[in-house]
Amino acid sequence: MAKFDQGDDSVVVIIGSGAGGGTLANELAQKGIKVVVLEAGAMQSNATFINDEWKSFSQLAWLDPRTTSGTWRVAKDFSGLPAWVCKTVGGTTTHWAGASLRLQEHEFKARTTYGDIKGANLMDWPVTLKELEPYYAKAEDKMGVTRTNGIPGLPGNNNFKVMYAGATKLGYKEVHTGNMAINSQPRDDRGRCLQLGFCFQGCKSGAKWSTLYTELPKAEKTGNMDLRPESHVTRIEHSTAGLVNGVVYFDKDGKEQRQKARIVCVAGNSIETPRLLLLSASNMFKDGLANSSGQVGRNYMRHMTGSVYGTFGTALPHLSLKLVLSVTRLLSRGMSSPTIHMPARRV
Ligand SMILES: Cc1cc2nc3c(=O)[nH]c(=O)nc-3n(C[C@H](O)[C@H](O)[C@H](O)COP(=O)(O)OP(=O)(O)OC[C@H]3O[C@@H](n4cnc5c(N)ncnc54)[C@H](O)[C@@H]3O)c2cc1C
Ligand code: SF4
Repeated sequence: MAKFDQGDDSVVVIIGSGAGGGTLANELAQKGIKVVVLEAGAMQSNATFINDEWKSFSQLAWLDPRTTSGTWRVAKDFSGLPAWVCKTVGGTTTHWAGASLRLQEHEFKARTTYGDIKGANLMDWPVTLKELEPYYAKAEDKMGVTRTNGIPGLPGNNNFKVMYAGATKLGYKEVHTGNMAINSQPRDDRGRCLQLGFCFQGCKSGAKWSTLYTELPKAEKTGNMDLRPESHVTRIEHSTAGLVNGVVYFDKDGKEQRQKARIVCVAGNSIETPRLLLLSASNMFKDGLANSSGQVGRNYMRHMTGSVYGTFGTALPHLSLKLVLSVTRLLSRGMSSPTIHMPARRV
């Protein structure tokens, strides 16, 4: 692992090592650019991941207390933990399911499609599906998404098979195991999915794409990345000319450190990114950094999950499989692009 001096102002500092930060670190490192990745979470590995839901949650999730307010159910049920993201090297990609769908045309045009919503700042995206398509294609190739680039779909587990039989009988036209960033065959020096079922707990086999064991080790090999786990950034600094020139962070011993930088990239996910920009307010930027619009920290949107539960008439063998292998897309009957996850439960 490269070690760059804290006073070296030629480095690019990346805050966060998840989907965004880990990928960017590798892309820059491959081009010969020196990067320092500051990651608040600790380093785990396929060997230290825990195949137990709650213990794993404690190992990977961002558990620093948060607050929420209002009358919504999350505020009542999870007032100190209103969001589920990770604090670990690899970020939430250690934890994600790997479902890798493209947004559809109309989803880029939410305001045009649905009209104004009172009290919301609903807008169309400033980019179109067509403009993003080449980047979707690159990402699918990098992550090895099934049913793209000639990669076969994952096999269905027994739950899926029952679901498949029922859904096709009811007339659903497209029922399959989805587009998943999980190897259905060996690829990119990683093996195929072993159907262990603990995808959310960090995939011990490494079949599921995570920056922890794809992008970051590749970046490390170039000698251009200095990855510092357990380094929590609390402030981005700038020069008198208003140009960002370094960051302040706390190391694993709680000691304040300062890293100089020529560029700072913030990739801390939906809550920590705006929080850090707002925390970095100064006399010159009283409303925080990158906030001339006044919109930083507003318009937070949760990932909507609709759940439907059902029980099968008979017990299905192989029920230790949990999530990924039974993702089903149902595209007919007016449903836009729902993805159905079928967690296995013993009956
Ligand atoms: C249970 C679950 C399942 C999911 N499944 C899917 C799925 O199937 N398909 C899909 O498309 N998406 C899924 N997601 C969402 C997906 O994982 C995220 O959208 C994605 O990881 C976000 O990437 P990111 O780089 O913005 O943040 P992350 O991957 O979360 O990385 C952010 C990193 O920044 C670090 N960080 C934050 N603040 C600081 C700071 N101040 N200093 C230092 N480090 C900091 C964090 O510790 C973290 O490691 C899922 C998410 C969850 C929680
Ligand atoms: S089911 Fe596949 S992706 Fe999930 S943990 Fe097992 S090997 Fe990894």
